Amino acid sequence: MKQFQFDYVNTEKLRRELTKIKQWCNNGAVSDVVFQIYTETVDRDEIQAVCDVISEDMPYAEYFGCSTNGNIISGCWSGHDISIICTVFEYPTSKMKILQYDLSDENAEEVTADLLKKVEENSWVKAIELVTTIKDMSMTGFCRGLSKAAEDIQIFGGGAFAPDINAKSSIVFSKGNGFTDHGVVFRLLGGENLHITSTYVTGWKPLGKVFHVTRSEGSRLYEIDHTPAYEVYRKYLNIKNDEHFFNHTLEFPFLYLHNGINILRAPTESLPDGSLIMTSDMESDVTAQLAYGDPGTILESVREEGRKIYEFKPETVEIFSCAARRSFWGNSEISKESQPFQNIAPTYGFYTSGEFCRTNGHVNQHNVTMVLVGMREGDAPAGKTAELYVEDGEFTGKMALINRLANYINAAFRDLEEAAVTDGLTRLLNRAEIQRRIGERLRSGEPLTLIMIDIDNFKSVNDTYGHNEGDNVIVGLANMLHKGIDVHNPSACAGRWGGEEFMVMMPYDLVYTIPAARDMCSDFAALEFPLAGHRTISIGVTAAKPEDTLDELLIRVDSALYDAKHSGKNRFVVV
Ligand code: GH3
Ligand code: MG
Ligand code: MG
Repeated sequence: MKQFQFDYVNTEKLRRELTKIKQWCNNGAVSDVVFQIYTETVDRDEIQAVCDVISEDMPYAEYFGCSTNGNIISGCWSGHDISIICTVFEYPTSKMKILQYDLSDENAEEVTADLLKKVEENSWVKAIELVTTIKDMSMTGFCRGLSKAAEDIQIFGGGAFAPDINAKSSIVFSKGNGFTDHGVVFRLLGGENLHITSTYVTGWKPLGKVFHVTRSEGSRLYEIDHTPAYEVYRKYLNIKNDEHFFNHTLEFPFLYLHNGINILRAPTESLPDGSLIMTSDMESDVTAQLAYGDPGTILESVREEGRKIYEFKPETVEIFSCAARRSFWGNSEISKESQPFQNIAPTYGFYTSGEFCRTNGHVNQHNVTMVLVGMREGDAPAGKTAELYVEDGEFTGKMALINRLANYINAAFRDLEEAAVTDGLTRLLNRAEIQRRIGERLRSGEPLTLIMIDIDNFKSVNDTYGHNEGDNVIVGLANMLHKGIDVHNPSACAGRWGGEEFMVMMPYDLVYTIPAARDMCSDFAALEFPLAGHRTISIGVTAAKPEDTLDELLIRVDSALYDAKHSGKNRFVVV
């Protein structure tokens, strides 16, 4: 595989570049030649002129491309209107096919079904690359349709854009099919010796509070926690609803779990009713967190996630990076996150309106994300390749400050969350929390047994030795439970039910719980308190039955404890 990358300056220079390519092709084996034309202009005449020269000069070559929010050449933002990437496939087995469709909300299902039929007809296909217009469209059906492709087919690509982020028009085009402002171009890639890998990097990290998306339709996010969505930006980030809204919120997009992976969505606009227009669809009834981006953390992620590309030893690296990332970094710094790949292989691509990448079978539309694609013909060369050198994040000065503040927020938030569910004296879960967890476990239908504990004759400890010694006995029992149970483990946990009563939830059947209850009785009896000496506990044990309600389960364990008390204390009773 050989690649030529250059910016379009004028026809003469373009012809000279094409001559170089033709000379190279004449000297070796060539199976396919394809031009990718990325244009930071939507002037069709200008683009057509470039296409015409290529068609005339190299009639056997294919081409396709789209309008962009910036082109990437040699790993950097090119700054030119039109950038041209020519890839020459050298292995006779390598195959490629370009298809263009008109695309709308209505026909997305038809388009993807037809594409997948063609993919099935061509068993050599290993990857589907796409450039698509996405303005004013929901890509949810499109992604769902593509997700039906055979599991081992990689799918990646980018949304066409325009130089002006607010512009409505964007176009895609390919040889023989002309331009369309509502369409998609697919490039099928494959063959025995063509190897492809794809991954994505964000670098934005979640911040403390977990929100619940209570109402969202398509890309319009109405309510978070039953409150107009804009309120989150006003209350937590003090971002005003003015002309800078997009720039400010860009640093704090939402991160939410979709198809098992974290997806970013940024608001582009806030409407008078407090709803937000997001960069792409978001569903209702999901949890979401605000995420923050800072250059240090982002570069760290590029270094980490970029390994997959570097270790693959690609011959070319293609990037579909969000236009929002370019706004975030600014033109002078945006190349910091793509340039490192140029040390590994020729790196090219464009700034998108949406990034597509298939993960765990699902094709997802990302935002604020950088999708990376490595391609290679033939086996990976033995030995080490060039290291992925990513400059260190600026971990001093203002960036270090942001990092530490974000860390402080997350740590303090965890403390608060823990405090809200913890009993102060015993550090066990509080009653509300353990009851909530019992209910949750009961609904899941998984094995569940309860151990309810009450200290025997506790009133007499208070009366004889004072309240402090009473507290010592309570803490002594709690510490014994802490030793045996990881309180923050979601399934086995212990809580303080009331004064000197405790509840332990075990994720097992009775067979395992009964020995635990027996040990609790004897272990507690073995403890010696400074004034109160040895004390005892009574225990009720019961297992959840499938038909149990939470109340029924709690009443039963309470009655088991009652039986233990009334049959002499210092024992456990199973009901
Ligand atoms: P039984 O063996 O039947 O369980 O008798 P008991 O004396 O243990 O039970 P009772 O319910 O009569 O007494 C519980 C006492 O626990 C009453 C209350 O004042 C005391 N208590 C509740 N919470 C605390 C606490 O946080 N610290 C201390 N020291 N005492 C508490
Ligand atoms: Mg009691
Ligand atoms: Mg008691």
